[in-house]
Amino acid sequence: MALPERMHIIHIATELAQVAKVGGLGDVIYGLSKAQVKEGHRVEIILPKYDCIQWNHLNNLTVAHRDLWVAEGSQRFNNTIWKATHDNLSLFLIDPHHPHYYFTRGIIYGAHDDIDSFAYFSKAACEFLFQMQLRPHILHLHDWPTSLVAPLYKDLYSKEGMRAGALVLTIHNLQYQGKSSPFHLSRIVFNGSHYHHPERMQDPFQPLLVNLLKGGIVYADGVTTVSPTFEKESKTPLGGFGLHEILCKHKNKFRGILNGIDENFWNPQTDPYLKKNYAVSSSLSDKEFAAVLAGKEENRKELCKRCSLSHQKKTLLGSITRLVSQKDPKLILQAIERTLEKGGQYILLGSQPEEEVMKALATLKKTYPKSQLSLNFEQDEELAHLIYAGAHLFVIPSLFEPCGLTQMIAMRYGSIPIVRKTGGLADTVFDIDPSDAPLSERNGFSFDFPDREGVHWALDRALTCQETDPQKWHLLIRHALAHDFSWKQATPQYLSIYQELLKPA
Ligand code: ADP
Repeated sequence: MALPERMHIIHIATELAQVAKVGGLGDVIYGLSKAQVKEGHRVEIILPKYDCIQWNHLNNLTVAHRDLWVAEGSQRFNNTIWKATHDNLSLFLIDPHHPHYYFTRGIIYGAHDDIDSFAYFSKAACEFLFQMQLRPHILHLHDWPTSLVAPLYKDLYSKEGMRAGALVLTIHNLQYQGKSSPFHLSRIVFNGSHYHHPERMQDPFQPLLVNLLKGGIVYADGVTTVSPTFEKESKTPLGGFGLHEILCKHKNKFRGILNGIDENFWNPQTDPYLKKNYAVSSSLSDKEFAAVLAGKEENRKELCKRCSLSHQKKTLLGSITRLVSQKDPKLILQAIERTLEKGGQYILLGSQPEEEVMKALATLKKTYPKSQLSLNFEQDEELAHLIYAGAHLFVIPSLFEPCGLTQMIAMRYGSIPIVRKTGGLADTVFDIDPSDAPLSERNGFSFDFPDREGVHWALDRALTCQETDPQKWHLLIRHALAHDFSWKQATPQYLSIYQELLKPA
């Protein structure tokens, strides 16, 4: 059987950049789908119809299907399926008429019943594909919230006659796994106790529970994660969050593919949020490079104005992050304090801060002049773009990082990353000083151990470079801009996995 040249790919996901985004997952669904459409494939994305969707980014919103009934426990609930487009991507939005008002909480994650709502969403997505008789070549699932589609398809829907060529699961974050009691799972899959087995979905740490992500790993035909280094780390006891054994067991179907970033959305030449646009490329003449520096300087001025920082000849550092344990807020605090001690400036744009972190940040804010530190605790796309363009340096000291997108975006805007060498950060940032990488690939500063000394060591070198060594500093910016972080590398790798899975056995 000849493999299809034009594939039909359906992503079942819980985020999409600009429409419903919490972090990198939204960027990846957007960027990967757009890259697949550009390659000529038919791509559709199934999402929950959250009440907090950015409606202004949706076009052609109409009802695609009414009266889609989904069984949950002994009851059946009605759903409306909407269709819409976003930036030429085709979306289906599942709108449950459910007494628990799933997806009407004003948030995407963090409700007390996330497991119930996403398990229900997974089942409604299967029911929709089955009833519409959509027969994609690839059903692509993402993270724990949609992992349940894999066992639902294999054990239930395929037996009813639903058809998909192959199922792929991508693990964007291994820490979040979706754990539930088998009894509870029975409401969606009928016999939760069947899955409560070490070979199926039993959680390795909490043996009384079932683990949805594990279900995706066991039942999907192919499993990927978002960088080659994280793929290796996740198969070790230290990096596997309890799932290393199951990932080792399924290693033949498990691959690491480095994420890209959408080069049109993240483009300093056309970015509508910047004060001054500037053209970047892999080889810039001296004149063009001077225009990059001038553009970045204008954006820094605007950024300082907006964040009430003085605009002086100081080094400006930034971080844009969820302030959760993975991102190591304590090390971010260390980086901020060290920067301020050394006379630099820092802008933090962080969401989900814990109280302890807020207190420590407030203390720093009181200790140092107001003109040095700006703290922002909201989701602010516009400010994020301005920081990427206006900061000199960008700090990401994560404890673990499956891929990380902010270092790639920062480099695309000519800002130099300071990172801990882990996961995708280790695959994308190569230290300008102690490094095995060829000189032309060295594009930032990194440290190994997640401690105060590590941060100080990298940060001090970065500040010295920016303040005293223009030649080296400019070389770093050129190297950062030269690196291709687009989806050009990853798209064919996904395609080849899809094709391998579709090959007749
Ligand atoms: P993660 O997915 O673990 O949160 P990534 O580095 O993969 O981290 O992706 C983070 C994405 O979310 C980037 O696009 C970044 O710009 C964006 N982001 C994070 N925090 C904020 C915020 N407070 N405001 C706007 N964008 C944010």
